Amino acid sequence: MRARLVAGNWKMHGSLATNRALLEALVAGVRGVECAVCVPFPYLAQAAERLRGTAIAWGAQNVSEFAQGAYTGEVSTAMLADLGCRYVLVGHSERRQLYGETDAQAAAKFAAAQGAGLRPIFCVGETLAERDAGRTEEVVARQLDAVLAHSKFGDAVLAYEPVWAIGTGRTATPQQAQEVHGFLRMRVGAATRILYGGSVKAQNAAAIFAMPDVDGGLIGGASLVAQDFLAICAAAQAKG
Ligand code: PEP
Repeated sequence: MRARLVAGNWKMHGSLATNRALLEALVAGVRGVECAVCVPFPYLAQAAERLRGTAIAWGAQNVSEFAQGAYTGEVSTAMLADLGCRYVLVGHSERRQLYGETDAQAAAKFAAAQGAGLRPIFCVGETLAERDAGRTEEVVARQLDAVLAHSKFGDAVLAYEPVWAIGTGRTATPQQAQEVHGFLRMRVGAATRILYGGSVKAQNAAAIFAMPDVDGGLIGGASLVAQDFLAICAAAQAKG
């Protein structure tokens, strides 16, 4: 059986003081489910220091596809490994939409992360216009196939995140999520964990996680509130 995973994406939020309180609450409250937090680069050392030896893993939200060199402002996979990261988000829709990341670039980042022993959490998802045009499967297949053309998924994680559901308060129905997860499952196989992301809250997590091909969640806004994130972790644990 695939182990459930709940990963928090803190995005560009936090401070040393607020992170400290959030990490303490998570360490005290997470039980019985694999959990990770993907924090801003400057706080990786803080996360590593507090989470080392606990059940909670940590990771980053982006990484360079290049190994090292004159890439001002970039962070390498080796640096993330040096800081004890287990996970790194790759291909998040905000990277694709706001920073112009291409399928090829996301695939190169995926390969680089795996090469450094990190587990990418690879994000795919369609916009509302693409869904309305009936192109959901075509879009997520294109994004995923860019990776599969060069890499095996191995112990990487796939995340289905409909762009129209991210930070909007509008969640895919459990059935809509399952439809796409089932489609992705056919491409990556039975062993790969597929997370759902997009306005997951304490109130809707259990229904989404109950779907057979949903193996946990990638959580944005609700991962910043300890009580909410812990309730989502509990919903994933309840699935077994
Ligand atoms: C995300 O950014 O990956 C995400 C799922 O955000 P939210 O939960 O806030 O929709």
